[in-house]
Amino acid sequence: MNMRVQLQNDPTAQVFSKQLLDIGNGEIELHQNTQYIKLPDIFCTVVETRNELIESVFPDILNYYLDHNWLCNHAILAARNVDVNEINFHIQQILPGDLVSFKSIDTVIDENKTVNFPTEFLNSLDLPGMPPHNLQLKIGSPIILLRNLNPPQLCNGTRLVIKKMTENILEATILSGKFKGDIVLLPRIPLMASESPIPFKRLQFPICLAFAMTINKSQGQTMSICGIDRYLQEDNDNSVVVNYEGRLNNLNWCSCGYCKGMLSDIECLCCNELPNLEKIRNQERKCITLHQSFSKLILDKEILNITRHNLILKTKNRINKKKLGQHHPENKTWRFICYKQYTSWVNSWIAMGRGNRVVLPACVEQKIREEYPEPNGIYVGFKNSKNLPA
Ligand SMILES: [Zn+2]
Ligand SMILES: [Zn+2]
Repeated sequence: MNMRVQLQNDPTAQVFSKQLLDIGNGEIELHQNTQYIKLPDIFCTVVETRNELIESVFPDILNYYLDHNWLCNHAILAARNVDVNEINFHIQQILPGDLVSFKSIDTVIDENKTVNFPTEFLNSLDLPGMPPHNLQLKIGSPIILLRNLNPPQLCNGTRLVIKKMTENILEATILSGKFKGDIVLLPRIPLMASESPIPFKRLQFPICLAFAMTINKSQGQTMSICGIDRYLQEDNDNSVVVNYEGRLNNLNWCSCGYCKGMLSDIECLCCNELPNLEKIRNQERKCITLHQSFSKLILDKEILNITRHNLILKTKNRINKKKLGQHHPENKTWRFICYKQYTSWVNSWIAMGRGNRVVLPACVEQKIREEYPEPNGIYVGFKNSKNLPA
């Protein structure tokens, strides 16, 4: 950053650079109570909403997006993949033209380890540094390369803009750097997801949209108008404001038709009340337990067994390890794995932040209990904890 500031010889950039260094070096005073820092007065423009952010970083985008210099100089940075995807999706929708979907082909790498992993499940995995299963593009959209294809021209991090699209080849123009303006062809390539819970291979274009990008990926990029999305975990997507009062004695709160009475007010929550389930359900207002993956992913013992083995490997707690490793685990252990599995599914396995609690709707709890009941039929209530039930 500093080098580039000096090269450009822009006095305001020098002030900005000094301010950044001061923050980085801890030279700005902390607020007494909150221990937060107050940003310098002339530092950046602060906006209240995400729409405002998009509007101020990409003003009048319809008139400018065809100008590659303009496009290349504007970007939004966010910390989390989920936010990046959402912002990208949102901005691309503004552009004219047809949205084209390119679906990846996902396969498990070690076939011996596979116990019928549903392809749909691999498709649902959204991993950092990997293109999405369903890559949706428009002509004119900026993209960023996720792998080295042909260095130094096409490297991990090269930004381009889509020029033409066919089933297996994308034609794109390089947006910046030494090869700016070059027109190149991008093929689909196999990408390894070795860090995922199940190592698998995804055949897809090694790119993602680049209106917004993660802060990590932005390193080494030069932009003149840069917005930062500081939407943080505090008010996370999974928290819902629901009035639980008086729910115990009726089922008026359930609109999916599959919830049953629970033991406490706080458990009386319908899957239709959880906005983060919306994406999985594809806008249908059907109960989440009717989703074609639900019984396979959350209830199927073969699938749960894989998670069980992973948990045994990962668990440090000896008592939990022993419970999980029993020859015939008790149903409450299976239920515990079901909850884990459900949480992972809802969070696409990766987006789980610390303290990011997934709320279990009553219908899901109900299904899991039907499949793995208590021997005496008595239900102990759902405890949200990291430990196995005692
Ligand atoms: Zn319901
Ligand atoms: Zn439901």
